[in-house]
Amino acid sequence: MKKHKFVFLKSAVFPKDYPEPTRFEVVVAGRSNAGKSSFINALAGGQKIAKVSQMPGKTTLLNFFDVDENYRLVDTPGYGFSKRGGDEQASWQQMLENYFSLRDNLCGALLLVDYKRDWEEDEELFCSFARKIGVPVAVLLTKIDRGNNKDIQAALKKIKSQSRIHDVFPISAEGKVGIDQMEEFFFNNWIKPALKGDSER
Ligand code: GDP
Repeated sequence: MKKHKFVFLKSAVFPKDYPEPTRFEVVVAGRSNAGKSSFINALAGGQKIAKVSQMPGKTTLLNFFDVDENYRLVDTPGYGFSKRGGDEQASWQQMLENYFSLRDNLCGALLLVDYKRDWEEDEELFCSFARKIGVPVAVLLTKIDRGNNKDIQAALKKIKSQSRIHDVFPISAEGKVGIDQMEEFFFNNWIKPALKGDSER
């Protein structure tokens, strides 16, 4: 598996605190426990990168990481509160709405979903932010080492149908399956065209 070099830049809630938009960004989201930290750590070749996001006080922030020489990942707080509602949901929603509406260098969104779960209201809400500004979303179906081939195929079919998203990738951070393919997909389909468009401006 490829090992990507991650450099933590900063955490932010408000647009005034975002880093300068000097690179194209891919935003990463998922319900708490969906496997987001494990995915990010696997991309970083096993470095415990995502622990930064779990430090006390940093769990409700956007965390910006430069990856290799060419792009940036933005880690978002784990969600899962459509049934609880309240302040927590309101602040998560506001933070992401700000980010999506103001970030011109955003070129794609990765949404992690545990293969055993259904597509729910929270996932739909996240996708609505992306849709509003025409940013593509790919779904990562996580923890597939826990199921057999038949389970995974059924989950893929179910999530594609529930989400109406075509780009759904089965991955396992633990089994190191699908991580390189995923990175190649978003690099070739989102980052490269954005870089090319930028140089032609
Ligand atoms: P986060 O809350 O979305 O950041 O989720 P974590 O990455 O912390 O993972 C939540 C739980 O799922 C942890 O107990 C992980 O060890 C487990 N987990 C994450 N990815 C995988 C995977 O690919 N396979 C298996 N079997 N477990 C995983």
